[in-house]
Amino acid sequence: MKVAKFGGSSLADGQQLQRVYDIVRADDDRQVVVVSAPGKRFDDDIKITDLMIDYANAVILDNDPSEVVAAIKARYQAIADHFGLPADDMDDINAQIDHLARHHYRTFDYLYAAFAAHGEFLNAQLVAKVFNFLGTPARFVDPKELGFLVDDNPRAATLLEESYKEMAKFELTVGERLIVPGFFGYTERGDIATFSRGGSDITGAILARGLSADLYENFTDVSAIYAVNPKIIPHPAAITEMTYDEMRELSYAGFAVFHDEAIIPAIEGRVRINIKNTNRPEDPGTMIVPASELKNIRPVTGIANSDRFAAIYLHHYLLNKEVGFTLRILEILKRYQVSYEHMPSGIDDLTIIIDKTLVNQEQVDAVLRDIQDTIKPDVLNWIPSYTIIMVVGEGMRDRVGALTDIVTPLKENGISLQMVNQGASEISIMLGVKPKDSDLAVKAIYQNIFE
Ligand code: ASP
Repeated sequence: MKVAKFGGSSLADGQQLQRVYDIVRADDDRQVVVVSAPGKRFDDDIKITDLMIDYANAVILDNDPSEVVAAIKARYQAIADHFGLPADDMDDINAQIDHLARHHYRTFDYLYAAFAAHGEFLNAQLVAKVFNFLGTPARFVDPKELGFLVDDNPRAATLLEESYKEMAKFELTVGERLIVPGFFGYTERGDIATFSRGGSDITGAILARGLSADLYENFTDVSAIYAVNPKIIPHPAAITEMTYDEMRELSYAGFAVFHDEAIIPAIEGRVRINIKNTNRPEDPGTMIVPASELKNIRPVTGIANSDRFAAIYLHHYLLNKEVGFTLRILEILKRYQVSYEHMPSGIDDLTIIIDKTLVNQEQVDAVLRDIQDTIKPDVLNWIPSYTIIMVVGEGMRDRVGALTDIVTPLKENGISLQMVNQGASEISIMLGVKPKDSDLAVKAIYQNIFE
């Protein structure tokens, strides 16, 4: 059995859904279909998830939501019309859209989560209707029925381990496709909580593990994962095969094709992942496999970069001698619910790298104030933008000269390195550079290694 997950661009309109239908029908093993909400049809288009968030904002601020509600209904209606679904098939979906505003939510965050999740919740219902209408038996399955229990984190939830026990009991019916909405689960109190953005990949991976799939197919809009961002290097090398760990590091550091958290369930269930293109399903795509199955070990598999980081820099003489110094810093971060990503240190210096998408300015200001007051460092700086470049490859384990291949092209291009972290991970070297140097640095490293 295969779990096939289709992303937002694969379901953006009726024409795309027709492709999805053909792909699913072409293989009887594609029994479980996980869907995202309809995504962008063209560059300036708005994803349904974002329309849902606008709708949530209107409700919270007591503004008239009728315009955004009409826009949401029109998107689903256009898909239904493409297939000529009977008019009353949409009544139920439209009623659910209206009902969202009348429901009571525990907090605003749960309200946001419920609205955002309805992008996929309603789409899965619509997709099941379309499949049945076109003659392929399909059943919409609410994640609740599958036992998707998550923790109390409304907009960045994590699955509770016990969910897998429930999932394992679920029986599939031969000849029937299950259509499951991605992106969310339910808390023990019954509230909807979403994974972080792009989280339908996580749902697919959880189901692949929970239902013991032979393969997790992740359909998107590219024919492979490329060794570097094609916006930086046109037509870069395609990665035909890579390991779970390589994918996790690359997606963490900016490869947006696959959610970094979605790797974990696949690793735990030892399910191979195949990234494929909905628009060119015959292309083999990229296989993501356990390290023991990798056929061809390259020194470097991919180079990723992300500007979503910021850093707190601290200089404090004799930092290395002061027992409990880092503990005090960590306590401050915990006090303001700030999680740090990396913390490279020297004898008198410490850099705390933070993911900007996970904190707000108030939290940062509070942390800085507290560090200043309680630690009284000699220097305390806030670096609002910090680029991380990750050079990843299984072949990097114990390879002599790996760092030289990376640093030499940077030197030749006059790029100064803010930070290097080698050794924490055996398969990657992490670099910190100024955002202005980011693209040039990636280009220079790629050209030196791949060309
Ligand atoms: N629709 C959600 C988002 O836009 C989740 C997903 O597409 O995976 O973030």
